[in-house]
Amino acid sequence: MDLDIRIINAATRGTEDKLVQIGIRDGSYVRIADSVPGDPKVEIDAEGNLVTESFVNGHLHLDKVYTLEKVGQDALGSYHGVGMGGAMTAIEQASRIKESYDESWIIENVRRAADWVRQAMDLGADVVGGIPWIEFTEADMRSHVDQMFELARIYDKDVSMLVDDAGDSTLRTLEYLAVQSIKYGWQGRVTAQHARAMALYEEPVFRRLTALMKKGGVSLVSDPQTGPLHARVEDLVKEGLPVALGQDDIADAYYPFGRNNMLEVGFLACHLLWMTTFPQMERVYDIVDRFRRQSSGHSGFRAQGRQPRQSCGADSAECLESSVGSRSSIGRHQGRQGGETDQIEL
Ligand SMILES: [Zn+2]
Repeated sequence: MDLDIRIINAATRGTEDKLVQIGIRDGSYVRIADSVPGDPKVEIDAEGNLVTESFVNGHLHLDKVYTLEKVGQDALGSYHGVGMGGAMTAIEQASRIKESYDESWIIENVRRAADWVRQAMDLGADVVGGIPWIEFTEADMRSHVDQMFELARIYDKDVSMLVDDAGDSTLRTLEYLAVQSIKYGWQGRVTAQHARAMALYEEPVFRRLTALMKKGGVSLVSDPQTGPLHARVEDLVKEGLPVALGQDDIADAYYPFGRNNMLEVGFLACHLLWMTTFPQMERVYDIVDRFRRQSSGHSGFRAQGRQPRQSCGADSAECLESSVGSRSSIGRHQGRQGGETDQIEL
């Protein structure tokens, strides 16, 4: 078998105490077995460490990374304080960053945002975005979603929108996004980001929302580490809705930490979402690892051949816990490896 890489002595989430070999070709896992024959260009000894599929970060404000010092810290307090009711104020304070740029250029072009999105689609962008919750009126929020869905229809692209990102129980842009997904037949092609306001919804409103999300095939990315309110991740997972986690921010006006380490994000989520039993930790690992197939549609990240099973018992706690603070993207397998593990990039 032609192989680019063979990993030997690998523990996986599905092989428990048994170590296996993993064959990789053209960026995909092609075989997971006791022995994978072939002549690989590179062989990596995992030395009993846990090897999993690559992580995908579902939500990151890449344009704001390391801008905290430029913006100052006022926005941090506004965003996180008073039940996140001042999130819009935080956004206005964060706009201080514009002092570093020619603001006249920005204002003129923000007014043409819809035109720029269309131009981005012409240039080959993969996804149509949106942030409807920052509009001032219900009519404008709906118009925002409608305009972007129309572009998605014209260009036959998926939709991803940042919704309901404040402590305001009246925000309903996720609900409207789901309604439009049903209307356009965009099931499985729409992802919502944040949706923190759902934490404040009355139970009947939340149940109506989950029903619409299911019918609309809408998935959600949550970032519970970057604000005191967050989407009801475990309730959504229990409803069978696809949920992922994202890093969200790295040292910007809304969050002073962040290393774009999805194991660290998962570790924080275990605490913030109180998902602390081993089965709950398994679910957390699933949503920083496997959920991406449903949320992002990046089938290229899938392992081919034999799939690791869902359950790995106590090892999930071990791999999440031991990885935080290390350089590892490969968790430590219980009882096999005592030291810090090195990152292996595929
Ligand atoms: Zn965000």
